[in-house]
Amino acid sequence: MQRARRARIVATLGPASRAPGTVKALAQAGVDVFRLNFSHGSHDDHAAAFKAVRGAEMALKRPLGILADLQGPKLRLGRFADVEIEVKPGHKMRFDLNPALGDETRVQMPHPEIFRALRTGMLLLIDDGRVRLRVGERTDEWCDVTVESGSKLSDRKGVAVPEAVVPVSALTPKDREDLAFALRLGVDWVALSFVQKAEDMAELRQIVDGQAACLAKIEKPQALNDLESILDYCDGVMVARGDLGVEMEPEEVPVAQKKILRAARQRGVPAIVATQMLESMTSSPAPTRAEASDVANAVYEGADALMLSAETAAGDYPLEAVTIMNRIMERVERDPLWPGLMDADHAGMDIHDVDALVAAARKAAEASTTACMVVFTTLGGTARRMSRERPLQPVLALTPKPETARRLALVWGLEPRLGDQPSSLEGLTDDAVEAAMLYGLAEPGQRILILAGTPFGAPGAANLLRLAHAPAHVERGAKRARRT
Ligand code: PGA
Ligand code: MN
Repeated sequence: MQRARRARIVATLGPASRAPGTVKALAQAGVDVFRLNFSHGSHDDHAAAFKAVRGAEMALKRPLGILADLQGPKLRLGRFADVEIEVKPGHKMRFDLNPALGDETRVQMPHPEIFRALRTGMLLLIDDGRVRLRVGERTDEWCDVTVESGSKLSDRKGVAVPEAVVPVSALTPKDREDLAFALRLGVDWVALSFVQKAEDMAELRQIVDGQAACLAKIEKPQALNDLESILDYCDGVMVARGDLGVEMEPEEVPVAQKKILRAARQRGVPAIVATQMLESMTSSPAPTRAEASDVANAVYEGADALMLSAETAAGDYPLEAVTIMNRIMERVERDPLWPGLMDADHAGMDIHDVDALVAAARKAAEASTTACMVVFTTLGGTARRMSRERPLQPVLALTPKPETARRLALVWGLEPRLGDQPSSLEGLTDDAVEAAMLYGLAEPGQRILILAGTPFGAPGAANLLRLAHAPAHVERGAKRARRT
């Protein structure tokens, strides 16, 4: 099963989609990576979804990634005696640490670290920004606030402090339990929500300890300010436009998206554009034309992957959402303007030898009408660096490790497959040609470009670039092999 496109699709599983038959249908329709959202659902739900994805992978003979998305430290108000209170602009009240039920004059905000981080004049956003409050007098135990806009506050609503870095631990006790559970399941990627600074990702990495790849969800302005150092600790990054849009003005979100995609591309860190891509399809079988444009533009911007959330997790049309997303993405990649856009944004060459090699591979492929590239990769590093160059040919990434293949399912332009590392130069060419033809990426007589590392059998950076031909005489056998 081949993808006709380079950009990838991530779909969130939930009640609307986690049945094994649906998961398989979604993968067939175009999903490359499935997201388990730990903000919702029980561990049993996620275990069932995990099993369904591994089952679909077996049936479709194509590596599928599984991403566990941790809820992260979402700050919340306490509870009110009457569940909710009415407020209007100018209303004044106090937030404090007292767990007693709240009323119009006061309510608990059970996070001493927020009070310590707040300064007079700062903005507080409650309930996804529906209520905006300005901080007045404050101490380390309470603050007075004045309502600027909004009409009600209710139990356990989320609190955002866009103007301060709140020194909360990156992982709540729930996150730690969920993470341990996800690692026991054997997920391929772990995403952390509400990352504020590089140390948050460092903490995650330390616990994950190489058992999965680590992804930062950029959904706070603080993270955007510290993006470069956060990326130092990332195997992947997400433009989490839902919460980003709560803490920033609407006009800032597209600018942030461009900034994150560009920074990630420079480093060869795969980037996901997420949230509300086909939002109306949660209850409608067709997207708005503005949504179609949003999906298309993310592909034109060179995003590695595009994500569906409620559309596939809880919507009425999960399969239609994936199908239309796939169609829009394929259409963009057939646009004669698209190759030029991919070509326009190469990474600046750094000192890494592999970068010189992959840049040369991209040029050589252009000059010699190459059908595909074949990259031998153990941990996926060479394949990701090849992807960063955005070659127009598909890149077959052969790895002996299933976990590497599954992680690479998120990365632009890669066709990860299981394959042994070559043992000799002759073996290298034969194995690469055979795999390229088996997976339908090269026709008899066509050229392929091979990237590998020597000495063979030892892990290490790629240092060999080889041009080979798929021999003409195996035509019939190869075609037969491919169809069976
Ligand atoms: P969420 O993250 O779906 O877990 O909230 C994505 C976002 O905020 O956009
Ligand atoms: Mn979010």
